[in-house]
Amino acid sequence: MIDLHTHSSASDGTDPPAVVVERAAAAGCRAVALTDHDTLVGVPAARERAAALGLSLVPGCEVSCAFGGHSVHVLVYFVEPGEGPLQVELGRLRGDRVARNRRLVARLAELGLPVAYDEVVTEAGGEEGAGRPHVAAVMVAKGLAESTDDAFARWLGQGRPAYVPKARLSPAEVAGLAAGSGGVAVLAHPLSLGLSPPALDGAVAELAGGGLVGLEATYGAYAPAERRALASLAARHGLVATGGSDYHGARKPDLSVGTGLGDLRVDDDVLERLADRRPG
Ligand code: AMP
Ligand code: FE
Ligand code: FE
Ligand code: ZN
Repeated sequence: MIDLHTHSSASDGTDPPAVVVERAAAAGCRAVALTDHDTLVGVPAARERAAALGLSLVPGCEVSCAFGGHSVHVLVYFVEPGEGPLQVELGRLRGDRVARNRRLVARLAELGLPVAYDEVVTEAGGEEGAGRPHVAAVMVAKGLAESTDDAFARWLGQGRPAYVPKARLSPAEVAGLAAGSGGVAVLAHPLSLGLSPPALDGAVAELAGGGLVGLEATYGAYAPAERRALASLAARHGLVATGGSDYHGARKPDLSVGTGLGDLRVDDDVLERLADRRPG
């Protein structure tokens, strides 16, 4: 089995990259992808641990995109830290994320919610990997919100008073940049689009036309019937049905690397099918 969707402390997960890999090995995974938001910075440490433990590390990241008024997340695989068109764009996105985070705490102050920028950076363990989950954690620690969900529902979520948008590419742009960097792009957790089955079918047709090569059918939080429907959706559009846990460590404590909520099982050959779709 494999896991193609995990987050480490390089973004909004809580385990260091090497620990995510250790958990994958302990769960029996033959390969694990590290897919931190907007960054590949955790890849070298993850790969070193994977080599020592005898599993493969798939370098990756997750990019938040805008698609017809929806927010969609796109997973990228087989892109290494270093030089390349996607890597350049990720650097820009991280810069914009820092600017957004500063605006976000300023907005909270205007709303009478004192969260210091430095507290958010400390919570995140760095400036570039910081995001709304870290802001939410600071708010909870200071008694300004009851829980992360409460912080998003009242203040931080889209359309809420402290929501500040950040730069977003289209999924097709990410697919093009990923291809230019030797990688592939996959639609993450497709049910997050909140579309009816026919509307989702149309959206997936458009995304496939834009260069995405897969969709995440076997997702940690989806029920068996949902996973089956997404796998057939992928097949109808010639896409690879991928899968992963979306592990975030203590930030999503019910999800485990490899097994998701307990019943996740992504076959090894999914990775081979994905690798077959790499450019050139
Ligand atoms: P950011 O990248 O800073 O905009 O934060 C996005 C991250 O916040 C997502 O990857 C999720 O981990 C988390 N998130 C987004 N919406 C919610 C929500 N409504 N409740 C809890 N966590 C959320
Ligand atoms: Fe996240
Ligand atoms: Fe996501
Ligand atoms: Zn994710």
